[in-house]
Amino acid sequence: THFGYRDVPVAEKQKLVAEVFTSVAGNYDLMNDLMSFGIHRLWKRHFAAISGLRRGDRVLDLAGGTGDIAALLLPLVGSDGEIVIGDINAAMLRVGRDRLTDRGLVQGLRYAQMNAEALPFPDRSFDAVTIAFGLRNVTDKQRALEEMHRVLKIGGKALILEFSAVRQEWLKPLYDFHSFKILPRLGRLFAQDGDSYQYLAESIRKHPDQETLKQMLQQAGFARVEVRNLTAGIVAIHRGYRV
Ligand code: SAM
Repeated sequence: THFGYRDVPVAEKQKLVAEVFTSVAGNYDLMNDLMSFGIHRLWKRHFAAISGLRRGDRVLDLAGGTGDIAALLLPLVGSDGEIVIGDINAAMLRVGRDRLTDRGLVQGLRYAQMNAEALPFPDRSFDAVTIAFGLRNVTDKQRALEEMHRVLKIGGKALILEFSAVRQEWLKPLYDFHSFKILPRLGRLFAQDGDSYQYLAESIRKHPDQETLKQMLQQAGFARVEVRNLTAGIVAIHRGYRV
């Protein structure tokens, strides 16, 4: 089933289109695009590009429901590697799996419903654990970081892509205006859901900033922790190793 998007049979395609408009994942996509002017696609590509994953690696992609990250990482780990997509929400997992399958991405992918705070894997199971735009939603973040550390093999790494704190003073008022004035309106307009977008902007402000998250990673046992800002710190990538 290595068909591309254009070759999908009509019935399938209708199902696909219907899904895009009705599903949670469709809403997430819209949300992400509105929120970031589509830049989240670049952030994700960059995240994959600097992941340093190698052929044969076994990766856990947490909060991976949309499948976006897995699709980018799969070519890196190759056919002898494996990516386990974990998400707390069964509907998100289903939509993600349908999408990846429709793109012909099947081999090397596994799906499992799980809470990032209590991972259903033995110690030292993975070469890397990734979580993109997911940690923010986890209630006990410290616990999740400890779990990520626990399931990593020695020498393995955690990679976190998440909204962070804007580093450029001049950008802050614009960013706040976009988040608190424009975004909820767009949310109401396109998703009949202004409140979720308001919540989203607030959850980003509440999320630990670059330095705080770095310390939380160290607290969880990670070594050689590094942060890289993307787009003036609107988003940051944290990396830490289990040694
Ligand atoms: N990683 C994907 C991406 O970048 O497109 C999806 C990000 S989406 C904004 C956040 C995801 O986190 C949702 O699919 C949600 O179900 C999941 N999630 C929220 N809390 C979680 C938890 N405690 N454990 C695992 N997944 C969780």
